[in-house]
Order: sequence, then structure tokens, then C-alpha cells
Amino acid sequence: MQTGKDQLASTDGASSRPVRIACDAMAGGLARWLRLLGIDASYSPAIADQELVDHALAEKRVVVSSDHKLFERRVFTSGELAGLLLPVGLKLPDQVRFVARHFKLEPGFPRCALCNGKLQPVSRAEVADVVPARSLIWVKEFYRCQDCAHVYWEGTHWRRIGSLRQELAELLAGQRGGRPSSAANGAEAHPGSASATQRGQP
Ligand SMILES: [Zn+2]
Repeated sequence: MQTGKDQLASTDGASSRPVRIACDAMAGGLARWLRLLGIDASYSPAIADQELVDHALAEKRVVVSSDHKLFERRVFTSGELAGLLLPVGLKLPDQVRFVARHFKLEPGFPRCALCNGKLQPVSRAEVADVVPARSLIWVKEFYRCQDCAHVYWEGTHWRRIGSLRQELAELLAGQRGGRPSSAANGAEAHPGSASATQRGQP
């Protein structure tokens, strides 16, 4: 089920520069999970193949797709653009594991699951109008996407992906020869959190 996966990847994952990913139009779920793990992953539900290629070339991203026909394009076979063939049929968490293992992705501080923007800490007062009162009381840290303004805080989403984050950190530590992985990236890297938003939701 994993035929040919390696032949497509021209990046070796060993460089220190973080891999930036361009998910194809079918991989929205994967993109959201990668973002919550702090990986820069672009995604657009309506993007056409050529647009995806142009976008990836322009931003030096590695294309991740389950469409093997896409990778038959010369831009990939020539090595101009790197790609990773995602095996068909993998469940979402396994897709994330597959991609993370391949690129030796190091979980970092979560990015916006909706738009891939960076999250910035904001005060409780700044989000009081969009966060439910109950969460406002017990949650200590809040973040807002600098691009789409979506608000995040510790909660179900982040918690749900927390164990996978831990798993990937351990996997990476193992790949590096067993050194303990430095608790991810400085900042409180455990994600916990969830999205909130829609201002004024009852
Ligand atoms: Zn956003």
C-alpha cells in the first residue's frame, strides 16, 4: 500500500529548515491536524492541480497528495518539485503519522487550523466577547490567529491532538538516536485547545 512513496520525495527530511507542506484539495483534514501540530501546511478545498503546483513552487512547499497521476507530471519527475504520495485508505491520524514520520516533523506551537496563520497570545479581556463565560473562568491562555482572527484556547481540540503530538515528539527523539526531545518548542507546546469563535454564539 505504500508503493513508490519514497521515490517522490526529493527532500531528505534531514535539513534543519522546517518542511512546508501543500496539501491537495482532498487533504483538508490532514492539513488541519498538521497545523495544530505546528506544521506549516497550506490547503484550499477548490484548488486545481496546476494551481497547487504553482503555489507549491512559489512557496517552496512539498506537495502531499493521494493522487498518483498528479506526481506523473514532469515538474515532479524532474525533481523540480518535491511530493509525497499519501497512501489511499489511511485514517486521518495515520495520515498524520505517515507524513510526520516521512519528514521527521517536529511538533511546534499550533498554527490556526482554519487558515494556517500564526497564533498570538491575547489577554482574557480581548476575547471576552467570543469565549463562553465558563471557559473564560478556567482557561488561562488564549490565542488569536493573526490572519483570520479565530480565537483558540485550551480545550477539546488541542487536547485531542495532544497525545499524537507527544507520540510524534517521542518518535522524532527515537529517530535522532534516543535523545529526549526538547519538549517540543519552547512555548508550552501542548496544544490543548480548541477553537472558539463565531462571536456571540449563544
Ligand atoms: Zn486563521
